[in-house]
Amino acid sequence: MGLLQTAVTSIYPPRCLGCGDLVDSDFGLCGSCWAETEFIGGAACDMCGVPLPGLTENGPIACDSCLKTPRPWALGRAALIYGGMGRKLVLRLKHGDRQEIARPAAGWMHHSVKTILTKNTIIAPVPLHWMRLAKRRYNQSALIAKNLAELSGLEWCPDALQRMKRTPSLEGKTQQQRAEILKGAVNVNAKRRHRIIGRPVLLVDDVMTTGATLAACATACRAAGAGDVCVSVLARATKDTYTQSPQSPEFWRVDVWT
Ligand SMILES: [Zn+2]
Ligand SMILES: [Zn+2]
Repeated sequence: MGLLQTAVTSIYPPRCLGCGDLVDSDFGLCGSCWAETEFIGGAACDMCGVPLPGLTENGPIACDSCLKTPRPWALGRAALIYGGMGRKLVLRLKHGDRQEIARPAAGWMHHSVKTILTKNTIIAPVPLHWMRLAKRRYNQSALIAKNLAELSGLEWCPDALQRMKRTPSLEGKTQQQRAEILKGAVNVNAKRRHRIIGRPVLLVDDVMTTGATLAACATACRAAGAGDVCVSVLARATKDTYTQSPQSPEFWRVDVWT
C-alpha cells in the first residue's frame, strides 16, 4: 500500500457498503450484509447468469426465459441476485451517488466472468443517453466497466456504444414492448468502431431484467462487426423479482438509497 493510500485509508477507513459499519478490508461488505446478499455460485444459466439449482454444470445450460427469448450474445454472467442487499446496492450506485460501490461490484463481477474473458476482449458499458447522463452526472455501468477493466487488465471503451434516442422508462413493459421501444436506440459509435471490429466484446451493465437493453447493445455490436459478444451484469432480476413487480412502486422505491 502506498503512502498516499495509507493516509487515505486512515482518514476514510473502509466501511460496509450495506450498513456503513467499519470493515477490515475493502472487500465491501460486513459479515451480516454479506449474508443478506445473494451471490450467484454453482450452476447458472450460461446466457443470463440466473442460478439453476439442481442442475449439473456439464455443458452450456439455459434458463426458461433464455430458451423462450434467444439472446443475441454468446455467454452471460451475473454476480448477484437483484433482491435484498443486491437490489439496495444497485439502486444506491445508480441513483444514490454511491459511486464507491463500483469497485467492489466490479470485483464480484470479475470473479463471475473471468472464465469467459479472452486476452483480446474489450469491455464496453451499456450507454446512457447524453441527456440522462447530464442529469445523473455519471453512468454507473461505465464506472463498473472501468473498474472491471483495471481488475482484469483488459482494454475498455467507455463510448463504444451510444444511445441514439431518449427512450421512455422500460418499467412495467413487456418483452415485446421493450424491444419496440429500443429499436434503433443503440448504435456503435462510428469513431470507435475500429476498436471492436473482429474482437470479442464484454458488455457491462448494472442490472439485467428482461435483457432487452443488453440485446439492443449486443445486436449493435454484432452489426458493426464485433466478434463474440458476452455480457456481465452486477445483478440479475429473476422471474420472481420482476414478473409481478416492476409496475409496483414498491419495486422501484428509492428510500433504500440512504
Ligand atoms: Zn454491513
Ligand atoms: Zn437465462
